[in-house]
Order: sequence, then C-alpha cells, then structure tokens
Amino acid sequence: MSVLIFAELDEGKIKKSAQEAIFYGAKVAQMLGTSATAIVIGQASDDELASAGRFGATIVLHASDAKLAEPNGMAYATVVAQAAQQEGSKIIVLAKSSLGDAMTARLAGKLKAGLAANVVELPDLSNGFRVKSSIYTGKAFAYNDLKANVKILAIKKNTITPEETDASAEVKPFSPALNDGDFAISIKSTDKSSGDILLPEADLVVSAGRGLKGPENWGIVEDLAKALHAATACSKPVSDLDWRPHSEHVGQTGLKISPNLYIACGISGAIQHLAGVNSSKVIVVINKDPDAPFFKSADYGIVGDVFDILPRLTKAVQAL
Ligand SMILES: Cc1cc2nc3c(=O)[nH]c(=O)nc-3n(C[C@H](O)[C@H](O)[C@H](O)COP(=O)(O)OP(=O)(O)OC[C@H]3O[C@@H](n4cnc5c(N)ncnc54)[C@H](O)[C@@H]3O)c2cc1C
Repeated sequence: MSVLIFAELDEGKIKKSAQEAIFYGAKVAQMLGTSATAIVIGQASDDELASAGRFGATIVLHASDAKLAEPNGMAYATVVAQAAQQEGSKIIVLAKSSLGDAMTARLAGKLKAGLAANVVELPDLSNGFRVKSSIYTGKAFAYNDLKANVKILAIKKNTITPEETDASAEVKPFSPALNDGDFAISIKSTDKSSGDILLPEADLVVSAGRGLKGPENWGIVEDLAKALHAATACSKPVSDLDWRPHSEHVGQTGLKISPNLYIACGISGAIQHLAGVNSSKVIVVINKDPDAPFFKSADYGIVGDVFDILPRLTKAVQAL
C-alpha cells in the first residue's frame, strides 16, 4: 500500500510543483511506514522519470500511451485511479494546478475518496487524518478531517520546499485500460504562455498595473524581471486593454500564484487583485500614492514613481 503521487509533466520535464508533491507524498509515506510511488503520464526520458527518486519516490509508473499526449483531465483521472487500484494506494497526492483541478473531483468520484485541496502542511495523524488547507484565496485556513478510506490531497504550490537526494527511482511501464468515454472532452489546441519562466511556476514575479501608463513602457518591468530571472505578471485592466497577454493576468479572475517574491509596480491593490497574489511569501509594493491599499498587504513598500524606481532597482540587482 504505497502512497501514490501524480507527477505532472511540462514538455517532458517533471514540473516544480510536481517535485513538491512527490516530496510531500514521500514524507507522508514515511509517516505511515510505507513507500512512495509516482505516476507520470506522457512522454519523458527514462532519466527524467528516474529523477522522481531525488524527491523520495521509489517507483515511477509511466503511462506513455500516445493518446495521453495532451493533458486531458478526464483520461488522466482514469489513469491515476487505475494506478491507485493496482498499487492498493489509499493516499493519492498531486499538486493543485489547472490539470489537477480537472482531475481531483473525478478521481474522488471514481475512488469514493475524501478530498482536501490547497493543502499547506503535512497531515496530523495524532487523531485520525487531519490536513490544513488554505481557503478564501489565502485569507484563512481550514482543518479537514478526512474519514474516507481513500484520501486525495491536492498540495498548494510553493508551500513545501523539497529536499533533494541523489537517489533515483525505478521506472516501470503502466498500461491503463482506456475507452472512448475517457476522451469525451478533447483538447483541440493549446495556447501556451511564452517566456523562459512560466508564471504559475515562478519563484519570483515582477508585476505591473495601470500605473505603467501604456504597453510601450513595459521595458522597465521586463528589465527588472530579466535581472532577477523572474516571470512577469499584470493586473486585469492591463490585460483587458491588451497592453499584456491575458496569460499574465493575476487575481480573482486570473491566475492565482504564490511565488516567494511578488513585486507589484503601479498596482493599486484592489481586493480582486490581491485574491490572486496574497499568498506570495514576500510582497514588495512600488506606488507613488502612499495611501494605495496595496501597502497594507506589503512586506516592503517603496513610495515613489515606477519610472524612477524600476531602472534604479534593476541596476542594483545587476550590480549584485
Ligand atoms: C468581478 C471583478 C473581478 C476582478 N478581477 C480582477 C483580477 O483578477 N485581477 C485584477 O488585477 N483586477 C481585477 N479586477 C479589477 C480590480 O477591481 C481593479 O480595478 C484593478 O485591479 C486595478 O488595476 P490597477 O491597480 O492596475 O489600476 P489602478 O486601480 O488604476 O491603479 C493604478 C495604480 O498605479 C499607481 N500609479 C500611477 N502612476 C504611478 C507611477 N508613475 N508610479 C507608481 N505608481 C503609480 C496609482 O497610484 C494606482 O495605485 C476585478 C474587478 C471586478 C469587479
């Protein structure tokens, strides 16, 4: 009865959030005196698959059927459910993500499992199985007692820091039984966000709002992002105005991110914006209005003009 972890791929690589999930699953396995098995779906090299061992998985089941090349939540839920049944796994761990969200409820239905989403800590096993999760877009925590025999834990990104070893996992092929019903929804095309550092996975984010005045001024935001190796993000009006692509929009109606550092430049800090970023570990706000609401949520604030501050900040980072 191993703990099963679904490890999501991005272009053949195990995503950072999946490494966190593997590490989390391996820790839970340790607490329960069992081992951790990862299930990986899609094309990846043997070396990449074996690298799940660095985060604590002893075995990797690899489902490489060509039909599974596109990340399809319905079909992927079937594959993970079958892997859980084969392994007799009563605990299934995965990272909370768009794909994870499309899978978890289906998986819970298939396995008649209890589900906790946005989990931020290891379970407390002192009196049953209790997990802490982040709710109300990071404003509160819930403690969930999972009483079902099978339990699914969707881990919030960037809340667990994996420790790596030089271990490598044993890779075994996994051939699920799929039928047409698993592909009732199919993906026709995928519009991926561009850039070296993908926003949902980024540790550092430089974000800007209407205070930048226009798309022609984004060079100073990109310069700082480049110097820091950060991703760029923006407020909703900025993407509505087509100053930046919609894939950069963070907030209640956009991406929810939790990087280690979020630098907000010329963003007022409306509640709908905060809903997407307030679980960032450190928030730095740059705004020329000392009464801008964002300062209330900031760890560090700079009252000043972004057109003055950003180039100086970039220079300072480059000098470091
Ligand atoms: C249902 C609903 C959902 C929404 N969802 C989202 C969402 O997901 N994400 C989101 O972002 N918004 C969302 N909004 C919009 C949100 O309410 C705000 O209107 C929006 O976040 C404001 O964007 P902004 O801060 O870029 O612009 P503004 O509110 O115009 O703020 C610009 C800021 O820049 C500062 N500034 C101006 N010039 C400079 C300068 N030279 N140097 C430094 N600072 C300067 C100003 O002092 C000001 O604080 C939503 C709204 C609704 C009603």
